[in-house]
Amino acid sequence: MSLVTVGSVAFDAIETPFGKTDKIIGGAGTYIAFSSSYFMKNQNIVSVVGEDFPQEMLDKLSNKGVNLEGLQIIKGEKSFFWSGKYHNDMNSRDTLVTELNVLEHFDPIIPASYQGCEYLMLGNLSPDVQLKVINRMEKRPKLVAMDTMNFWMDIAMDDLIKAIAAIDILIINDEEARQLSGEYSLVRAAKKIREMGPKYLIIKKGEHGALLFHGENAFFAPALPLEDVFDPTGAGDTFAGGFMGYLASTDDISFENMKRGIIAGSAMASFCVEKFGTERLENLSKSEIEDRIQEFVQLTNFDMVKSV
Ligand code: AMP
Repeated sequence: MSLVTVGSVAFDAIETPFGKTDKIIGGAGTYIAFSSSYFMKNQNIVSVVGEDFPQEMLDKLSNKGVNLEGLQIIKGEKSFFWSGKYHNDMNSRDTLVTELNVLEHFDPIIPASYQGCEYLMLGNLSPDVQLKVINRMEKRPKLVAMDTMNFWMDIAMDDLIKAIAAIDILIINDEEARQLSGEYSLVRAAKKIREMGPKYLIIKKGEHGALLFHGENAFFAPALPLEDVFDPTGAGDTFAGGFMGYLASTDDISFENMKRGIIAGSAMASFCVEKFGTERLENLSKSEIEDRIQEFVQLTNFDMVKSV
């Protein structure tokens, strides 16, 4: 099975209570690609960077098996730049700077080799670009998932609603679900958002885990309790990459398998937050990932013979 990922490949500057970074590599597409690369080999990225983007990082992605044919490098222009500062609880953050640069006029190209992909992950990007990608796929993929953020709700709500109507799964955080639906209760928010189009909805709640909604069914997975969280940036994208990578590698989009996908995504996200940027995601071993998934199984496993 093959996965196409669309998302920003970018520079970030991050401030957390534990420290501060200068410009480091980030971007939703980067996190998704690193994370899904541990589950499957046939994966492809659609994105854009400026001339300032280091070749070394592109090499790291291609060494992980990520096909970069759909990644445009625009001469004389600068890569997308985002800067954020986390509050003491590490669950909430303020965006300090968003410089769109190459993303402002990004016209996504889908190489012929990407056509026919079965799984499409629309990472956080302008909804106009996300829609263009869906429309430029000659055959609709079997499963289309999408992430977005408040930034796009504030400036491009009309396009965002069109994109949401065209997908199967929306993956957003609790704050975004509330903003999108105008409902405080997440159960009500989930209902309203699914009426907008997607059959499935995943609401990420940071250190409080993730919820999956479909029809009358719901599933909840906790986040792994970690002693140290250094930098939550990209955790949501890493989660999405693990989730989609797992579904694509097993080629099973049943609700039961999506539960396993959520555990795979949560395990990957738990690695992401342990170091700044993509560092922790760059060199994981299969056994480390397997052990972490088993920690989730242990965390949520219990027997209950008698109830009342
Ligand atoms: P997350 O922490 O999962 O929300 O993702 C953070 C990543 O999203 C960072 O690496 C940023 O480069 C990227 N990002 C932030 N804002 C935007 C935006 N408006 N469009 C695309 N990517 C963004």
